[in-house]
Amino acid sequence: MTITALMPVYPRCGVRPVRGEGCHLISEDGSRYLDMAAGIAVNALGHGHPHLVKAIADQAATLMHVSNLYGSPQGEALAARICANSFADTVFFTNSGTEAVECAIKTARRFHFAAGNPQRTKIITFNNAFHGRTMGAISATNQPKMRDGFEPLLPGFAYAPFNDLDAALALIDDETAGFMVETIQGEGGVSVGSHAFITGLRKACDEHGLLLILDEVQCGYGRTGKMWAYEHYGIEPDIMPVAKGIGAGFPLGACLATERAASGMVIGTHGSTYGGNPLAMAAGEAVLDVLLADGFLAHVETIGERLRGGLEQLIPNHDHVFEAVRGRGLMLGLKLKAGVEPREFVAHARDNHGLLLVAAGENVVRILPPLVIEEAHVAECLDKLSAAARVFAPASDD
Ligand SMILES: *Cc1c(COP(=O)(O)O)cnc(C)c1O
Repeated sequence: MTITALMPVYPRCGVRPVRGEGCHLISEDGSRYLDMAAGIAVNALGHGHPHLVKAIADQAATLMHVSNLYGSPQGEALAARICANSFADTVFFTNSGTEAVECAIKTARRFHFAAGNPQRTKIITFNNAFHGRTMGAISATNQPKMRDGFEPLLPGFAYAPFNDLDAALALIDDETAGFMVETIQGEGGVSVGSHAFITGLRKACDEHGLLLILDEVQCGYGRTGKMWAYEHYGIEPDIMPVAKGIGAGFPLGACLATERAASGMVIGTHGSTYGGNPLAMAAGEAVLDVLLADGFLAHVETIGERLRGGLEQLIPNHDHVFEAVRGRGLMLGLKLKAGVEPREFVAHARDNHGLLLVAAGENVVRILPPLVIEEAHVAECLDKLSAAARVFAPASDD
């Protein structure tokens, strides 16, 4: 037998973390890393945040799980708090981002079904999108690396280039249910939806009776310096899957919706055994305590600008590696020069300079630090990046 006990679907690197301290990770061999990946935008509060740790420990000792057969004071409280701080009127709790996306797709189809338009099943999505790994979510992207070998996929999706409003509008027909788009594409390469694009999709939804699903699994929950990325555009979605930062490391996701958009989601239409259990709700409450505290989001904005400014200053000194900075708040991307492979640079920064980053599409390296980073972490990140770039020679140049 050659297959590993852990199903070998990930190209895992050699770092084997066993402990976290704030914005640093310590590996099995004792090496210390500055964590500018934050578990792919998940560890919003860094590692071992005392408020989150205590909330989880206390709740674990009180009540972890009961199933959705019973009333949920914990779920009602967190859902009400999320609604009070977003566009939403109602929330379905999941255990991951892709399940939140799945709920969004079902909610959109059910809306049109309940409104007497059962033919409206098609959701227009975008090139380079990433919505997760369920059959529904891989059907919602046209990236072959995620779809090959899993056909037949879920029918009812059409794809347009990201940030191309006219192309998206041209796909609308009598079977269209709505659009699903990441307000800022994460895996695809930290591509920020343009103002004209996102507001144009909203307008088209209003004109054609369609639903706007904004996938804020990665860009929501304070990552951009506002609670939700859509706030930068002055519009609101109808449905919004979120996850990643929502539990700051505890597996939790949520599908937010307006009352109107969720009008088809009646008793029996959806469910999840774990979804919204008391332990997850305690984690979610603790995260919101920190994010909604006075000045926290302003800190994300300020420190994000500091980091971005520092990155921009690095570029001219290392223009054999770096080309441009993109993103918003603490969801930043360093676009690398053509011919520099993001995975190679990420490995170099990690193995030779103790800096953890994440590769993405469009030749971009993502910088997704914990939202609690301070000036000292920014300085450490810039020093390490600068040192890494100084001695970096792409393999192709050897
Ligand atoms: C990570 C991600 C998902 C999937 O989340 P999982 O928790 O991995 O299922 C969906 N959409 C976006 C935009 C993401 O970044």
